[in-house]
Amino acid sequence: MLGHMMQQPLLISTLLIHAERHHGEREIVSRRVEGDIHRTTYKELASRSRRMAKALIKLGIQPGERVATLAWNTHRHMELYYAVSGFGAVLHTLNPRLHPDQVVYIADHAEDQVVFFDLTFLPIVQAVASRTKTVKHWVAMTDRAHMPAADQAAKVPGLLCFEELMAAQDDTFTWPQFDENSASSLCYTSGTTGNPKGVLYSHRSTLLHSLAAALPDALNCSERDVILPVVPMFHVNAWGLPYVGCLTGAKLVFPGPGLDGKNLYELFESEGVTVSAGVPTVWQGLLGYVEANKLKFSTMRRTIIGGSACPPAMIRAFAEQYDVQVLHAWGMTEMSPLGTVCTFKAAQVPLGQEERYAIMATQGRAVFGADMKIVSEDGKDLPWDGKTTGDLYVKGPWIISGYFKNEGGNPLKDGWFPTGDVAKISPDGFMTITDRSKDVIKSGGEWIGSIDLENIAMAHPAVAMAACIAARHPKWDERPLLVVVKKPGASVTRDELIAFYDGKIAKWWTPDDVVFVDAIPLGATGKMQKIKLREQFKDHVLPTA
Ligand code: ADP
Repeated sequence: MLGHMMQQPLLISTLLIHAERHHGEREIVSRRVEGDIHRTTYKELASRSRRMAKALIKLGIQPGERVATLAWNTHRHMELYYAVSGFGAVLHTLNPRLHPDQVVYIADHAEDQVVFFDLTFLPIVQAVASRTKTVKHWVAMTDRAHMPAADQAAKVPGLLCFEELMAAQDDTFTWPQFDENSASSLCYTSGTTGNPKGVLYSHRSTLLHSLAAALPDALNCSERDVILPVVPMFHVNAWGLPYVGCLTGAKLVFPGPGLDGKNLYELFESEGVTVSAGVPTVWQGLLGYVEANKLKFSTMRRTIIGGSACPPAMIRAFAEQYDVQVLHAWGMTEMSPLGTVCTFKAAQVPLGQEERYAIMATQGRAVFGADMKIVSEDGKDLPWDGKTTGDLYVKGPWIISGYFKNEGGNPLKDGWFPTGDVAKISPDGFMTITDRSKDVIKSGGEWIGSIDLENIAMAHPAVAMAACIAARHPKWDERPLLVVVKKPGASVTRDELIAFYDGKIAKWWTPDDVVFVDAIPLGATGKMQKIKLREQFKDHVLPTA
C-alpha cells in the first residue's frame, strides 16, 4: 500500500523558494574581486537566480548541459549555484588552482558549454580559451565598468559580461519540475593519482546531504548563525554550505579572494561570524595572524576543519586561546562530501579535558546517510575496537555509484565505496583516519600511520608544518622520514625532534630521520602533496643505527 503524502521531488530550486519566502531579508555579504564589500539578501538571490536562469536559457543552454565556473566564494557564484541547477543544467565548478592543461582536460571532458569566471582568473581563461573544444561563451563575473580592456578581451572569444546578461532579463520565471535524480552539479577529484575523475551529484543527493549537514551533530547550523565558508565553492560545493544557507536561513559571509589571515579576521569581526569551515592549512594562516597581533574572536564559536587531518595542537589552540570549538570532519568529493563529524556523545560530556581532546582529534562518527565499515585486504569486516586498522568503506544516498562517463569502471565493492583511506573505529563508533592507503608506510611488513607522526611533530612549538613519508630502507623496506617546515625565527634540531617522540608513540614508529625544508608543496585544495615529497626524497639515505 502506498502512503497518502504529497509527491514533491527533492529539487535544489525548492531550497531557494523556501529561502525567499521564509527568510528573504537575511543577508548574504561578499568581499568581491572588485574590492568592495557587497551586501544582498536571500530575496535578491532568488530574484537574480531566476534572471540568470533565463539568461542561460536564452544563450541556448539545455537541461543536462554543463555550465562551468572558475570563481571564488561570492554572491554571484551562489547565484549560479541556484540558476544553473535550478532549470536542470549542471553546475560544474572548475578548480582555478589547477594547471591550465588540467583545466582544458576537465572542461573538455565535462563538455562545458559556458564558463563563468572571476576577473582574477582572466589569465587562466586567456591561456585556455582557444584550446577548449566545447565552450561557446566565457562570462566575466563583473559589471560593464570592470570588464577587461579591449586588447585583453580580444584574447577571449565569445566574452560576455555577467551583469549585462542579468540586466537583460526580468525575474518572472517558474522553476521547472523534473526527476529529483537528475544531475545537478559536477566536481572533479583533484587527481592526486591519474587524471581527475568527475563526480556527478543529483538534486536528490544534494538535498538529502544538505538536510543531514545542518543537523546539530553535523555542522550544526541554524538561522541564528552567521556562516563564513572559507572552503571554496569550487571544492565539493563548499562542503554543502551554500545549500545549508538557503535551508536554514543563516546569514552567509563570502570571503571572495581574501583568504589570508588579515582579510578573514576582519570579516569574522565586522560581520559577526559564528561558524566557519576550511582545511587546516587555512587556519594555520589565520591563527598565525591572530597570534602575532594578539587578537581575539568576539563572535566565532565553532569552526569545521576537514579535508586533511586537523592536528590536535590546533584543536587545543582554538579551544584554549580563543574559546572556539573545532568540529573535526571527514569526507571526500565522492561523498558530497560529508561522512563523519566529531561531536561528543552524552556519556563523553562529563569526561576530563584531556580525554575530551583525545576524542576531538578523531574524525568523528557517522552522519546518518553515510554508513561506514572497515575491512581487511580480503574484504572481511574488521572489529570496531579502536585498535584494528583497515580499509574504510562507505555507503549511502549521497555517495558516488560510479564516476562521470564511467571513468575507471565500477568503483563499488558489494555495494560499498572503498574510500582509499585507512582507519580504525572505536567501540562507540568514533573513526580515526590513520592514513591514505597510498601514503601508508610499510616497515618490515607492518603499517605505520603517517598522520599520527605528523600530529606529534605539529605539537612541537618550533614546527609550522610536518609531513611524514616513506623512505627506502635496506632492511625494513620503508621507514618514516619526517619533513619539517620550521616556524619563522624558531630553531630545532633533528635530534631534538626525534627525542620529542619519546613516550608518545611505540618506539619503532619513531621517524628515522628529519629533513628541514622551506615549504611543503600544497595541492589545488590546500593539502600536502606527499607524492611530490616522495619524489623529492626518493634517494634520501637514512642513517643506519
Ligand atoms: P582528493 O582525493 O582529490 O584530495 P578530496 O578533497 O575529496 O579529494 O579528499 C578526500 C580525502 O581527504 C579523504 O579521502 C581523506 O584522505 C582526506 N581527508 C578529508 N578529511 C580528512 C580528515 N578530517 N582527516 C584526515 N584526512 C581527511
